[in-house]
Amino acid sequence: MTAIRDRRYSSQMIIRARIVVTMDGAPIENGAVAVSRNRIVDVGRFDEIKTRNAGKTVDLGEQVLLPGLINAHCHLEYTCLRGKIPPQKSFADWIQAINAKKSELSPKDYVASITEGFAEAARFGTTAIANLTAFPELISQIQPPIRICWFAELIDIRAPERANEFVDSAIEALKQTPSWGLAPHALFTASSNLFRWCENISRRDNILLTTHLAESREEMEMFRHASGPLYEFLNSIGRPMDDCGSKTPLGGFLNLIGRGGSPNRPSAIEVNRYYLPWIVAHLNELTESDFELLERSNSKFHVVHCPGSHNYFGHSPFAFDRLRSFGFNICLGTDSLASNLSLGLFAEMRAFQKEFPSVSAEEILQTATVNPARALRYENALGQIRSGFGADLIAVLCSTSTDIFEQILAFHAPIGWSMANGKVIASVPGSAGC
Ligand SMILES: [Zn+2]
Repeated sequence: MTAIRDRRYSSQMIIRARIVVTMDGAPIENGAVAVSRNRIVDVGRFDEIKTRNAGKTVDLGEQVLLPGLINAHCHLEYTCLRGKIPPQKSFADWIQAINAKKSELSPKDYVASITEGFAEAARFGTTAIANLTAFPELISQIQPPIRICWFAELIDIRAPERANEFVDSAIEALKQTPSWGLAPHALFTASSNLFRWCENISRRDNILLTTHLAESREEMEMFRHASGPLYEFLNSIGRPMDDCGSKTPLGGFLNLIGRGGSPNRPSAIEVNRYYLPWIVAHLNELTESDFELLERSNSKFHVVHCPGSHNYFGHSPFAFDRLRSFGFNICLGTDSLASNLSLGLFAEMRAFQKEFPSVSAEEILQTATVNPARALRYENALGQIRSGFGADLIAVLCSTSTDIFEQILAFHAPIGWSMANGKVIASVPGSAGC
């Protein structure tokens, strides 16, 4: 009785919807969620929630309430490049094309681009983003409307001797934010010293790491055979190429990571139980020997697939079934608008469904909720509607027929109502009544 009374007085808002999809059990018809400040404090049938909790009721009518979506890989600073770079003959050409566009942008342009990107992501139901930025010094000029984990994107291709300096100076800018990590850009743009220094920091400060890996056929050709357009381009700008001609990108990456050794390094038994701190974007190009390495490895990492960007580049098919069967945690990301048309995760889920029609709509929704929450170490705080979790909620209008998860994936319009970290960030007139 006491517990019920305490909960009743702490609740401030009850949000009712035709169906509440919690991602933590069966959908609840005529459901409701009680929110106090920035936390979910109760979830269940509306009549039960009303009895147990006080506060203003927001009735979302016929809409379906679900956890806010989480984008596991994005570069918001290139939002202004939407449609500006047509698909190129080669991946190396695309890198040169984006570099040319970037040289025309000022810090002011980047701040505006990131701000616009946040607004678009929020409009399409994203309430948390893992965002890579090459300009961590600009973070203080941005007020994100949703949750963000900033990753400093690090490239030392032109000055590998300054790897540690680049990392340390990025950390100075990142420290002002509540949630941050490091992103050595890729094996072909970041030195092994830079990767190792980031791993040292990860062990020391318990932070997350992310990188782009095995994204293109040209990356595979460069590392395996010391040839191809990417090899030629990077060689021409002075990258030391002595790591090319033997290992696959994945083989090179696995050879680099987890070797730092420190008092905080987990024991072999712990590695069995925990994911590595790495969130690996892409993993499109893998050989049979790579699959054997992945299958045998006790240390799993998180994998981000970006269907829109994957289609734009025409990469090899993503090995979802095999990676999932080996125990990798697979998430969705949008990548940037330099290689995609939208920052909306509903579009990414639909593109994924086209690639993998046998995967259930519910499992696809997990790749934008539960799975990225786990990758970002928010598995006990985000990605589900559960008591004690963060109040990150979105509402979508669905018709009453067929599978509810199929209907959610089919949602096209901007979100009518949403809340991130307990703050209502979208409330279209008519979508919610009190
Ligand atoms: Zn990327």
